[in-house]
Amino acid sequence: MQDVVIIGAGPAGLSAAFWCDELGLDTLVLEQAEQIGGQLHQVYNPIENYLGLKTRNGEELLAIFAKEVDSAEFDLWTGTNITSVDLKARRISLASGENLQSIGIVIASGVRPRELGVPGEKEFIGKGVIESGARDRELFAGQDVCVVGGGDAAVENALLLAEVCATVTLVHRSKKLRARREFAERLRPNNRITVFTESVLTRIIGDEQVQAVEIQRKEGLKPFQLAVRGVLIRIGVEPNTELFREQLETDEKGFIAVNSQQETSVPMVFAVGDVSNPSAPTISGATGAGATAAKIIAARLNAR
Ligand code: NDP
Repeated sequence: MQDVVIIGAGPAGLSAAFWCDELGLDTLVLEQAEQIGGQLHQVYNPIENYLGLKTRNGEELLAIFAKEVDSAEFDLWTGTNITSVDLKARRISLASGENLQSIGIVIASGVRPRELGVPGEKEFIGKGVIESGARDRELFAGQDVCVVGGGDAAVENALLLAEVCATVTLVHRSKKLRARREFAERLRPNNRITVFTESVLTRIIGDEQVQAVEIQRKEGLKPFQLAVRGVLIRIGVEPNTELFREQLETDEKGFIAVNSQQETSVPMVFAVGDVSNPSAPTISGATGAGATAAKIIAARLNAR
């Protein structure tokens, strides 16, 4: 029997674990991946807005977090596959056959990139389907590329790619971009970037490598092909909540509903980080939420 089991070892889960340990709680962190860090592994840009720390990328921030983790005393199991969770009973079953029981559970399972679901999207990964503009743009220097999406991630990547690519075509399904103004305003003066709004990418075409994309501008119009060598899809994220969705309150997209104390609709079950924060996900928010959950759990246990 643990005091707390934390599911996920990204910034939110690690912060919750760190605080639980500080507060004297017997804590176990379960991480599916072989490494801790979650989405920090996919941040290739400088991190400049985490108060007090500036790092060149996510790995560098993770190295700082990892030092703290090494000196803490909570248990951490990586490469751990959870097969089922009974939130009400706070019982977790693992693929290894083990069953865990705890007084509190903190869900910090994060999010994953949303897929577009078009032909070619999976087949051409690494063969023209770009995973990160910041990391991979030199591979596409002087070439024509396409970016799909209208949020901060798509627009920021379009701007980064335009620094080295011959042309960048941004394809966005709605009339208005969702990206913050300071990113969106930099698109128009950039003569390497063309923006197609109210447009959808319907197919990625190629042989060994991507050769073109098919784009439909406005419903009813015939799709046309645009020759590109690279495609980057950034259309938001989806929460990793399949294990829990039927057992607690979520929004319509599956993000877990929490109150200001990070409590879910199930007693002694908390959710922290992007999995419960669809509107303003940040590393700072994630670590703060982890601390909040830990303090509330400790207070609840002390009151028993
Ligand atoms: P967002 O959810 O903000 O935007 C997703 C975009 O993809 C929207 O424009 C949406 O269109 C579009 N979209 C969604 N589903 C589909 C679909 N099936 N087909 C086509 N288009 C689709 O996601 P982001 O990943 O851009 O950003 C997530 C969060 O991360 C935000 O809070 C953002 O601020 C943050 N972020 C911050 C950065 C920074 O600070 N440098 C960089 C990147 C992200 P529609 O508008 O029509 O719904």
